[in-house]
Amino acid sequence: MTTSVVTGGAGFLGSHLCDRLLAAGHRVICVDNLDTGTLENIEHIRDEAFTFLQHDLIDHIEIAERVDYVFHLASPASPIDYLRLPLHTLKVGSYGTHNALGLAKRHRARFLLASTSEVYGDPKEHPQSEGYWGHVNPIGPRGVYDEAKRYAEALTMAYHRQQGVDTHIVRIFNTYGPRMRPHDGRAIPTFIRQALQDKPITVFGDGSQTRSFCYVSDLIEGIVRLIDSERHEPVNLGNPGEFTILELAEAVVRVTGSASPIVHEALPQDDPTVRRPDITLARELLGWEPTIELEDGLRLTLAGMGVEVPVGP
Ligand code: NAD
Ligand code: UDP
Repeated sequence: MTTSVVTGGAGFLGSHLCDRLLAAGHRVICVDNLDTGTLENIEHIRDEAFTFLQHDLIDHIEIAERVDYVFHLASPASPIDYLRLPLHTLKVGSYGTHNALGLAKRHRARFLLASTSEVYGDPKEHPQSEGYWGHVNPIGPRGVYDEAKRYAEALTMAYHRQQGVDTHIVRIFNTYGPRMRPHDGRAIPTFIRQALQDKPITVFGDGSQTRSFCYVSDLIEGIVRLIDSERHEPVNLGNPGEFTILELAEAVVRVTGSASPIVHEALPQDDPTVRRPDITLARELLGWEPTIELEDGLRLTLAGMGVEVPVGP
């Protein structure tokens, strides 16, 4: 039986990845310290092939049985989480990634690092291709996350080049779906929570900043293809459909049939002005592209939360 370790497996993306790997017949060892993840995300899993290990990746990890794949997703991911946990974020990106890579090395396992579009910072190239080196403020509030991920990428390439580990790096662009925490601070769960309560939708700044939103099942499909590829340098995965945050707020209001007004609040420091992946490489290497449009993905998210979605006119 193929065995996969998923670090951060009790989080939003990690729990969907565990589901996907179990469905493919893998044994799955989910390693998580429950900092920003929750047991609720994995409580539906009844499979005997699944094991949960509560462990902080900052500390050394040994797994006695054979391991074939290590998917390293453990890290705070939402701005409010990494602003609350700045040192922890740097440590999990550095020590945590060392420990996950060491595990893969000892088991001769394939390794995948969950990196992020944040390595591009507030980009001066648009859309962002993998060859762009980024425009990051290392000492701003987001620097703890951006630099942790940039270090983790450098470390992963060093384990590959010097130690021969079979590593892969995915740069994930904003991904959404069921199991995001309603209070995790990210735009989609926040807007959905506000819309469902007919409360004001809080758009930061004038809402002209853009993001590209990928539905979770599309992303997970790309991740499982990437770890089996021969590509070691980073690959972007995300949906190239680009929306302003104001357009996103309007879409959430439309899909939920909410009476919420849209209000504007202060724009956080160093909030990227644009973001859209160039996915040429993923198309060519993996034959991958997203299939779910934003409003369909929002409906699927609501359905996954058990919310009845109003049918259009
Ligand atoms: P999440 O917060 O839901 O999941 C992260 C998980 O990692 C949580 O379960 C948390 O408890 C766990 N974790 C954190 N520190 C840990 C530690 N020291 N030891 C063990 N477990 C630890 O976030 P997510 O959105 O699922 O993100 C997962 C990964 O994908 C992260 O690495 C994130 O940087 C990356 N990513 C996500 C997005 C996105 O849009 N969701 C975008 C870019 C990158
Ligand atoms: N955002 C917003 N209102 C909110 C939460 C977020 O306007 O209540 C904005 C945020 O300023 C950013 C965009 O939505 O411009 C995406 O934010 P998110 O935290 O989801 O992701 P990231 O900034 O990491 O791309």
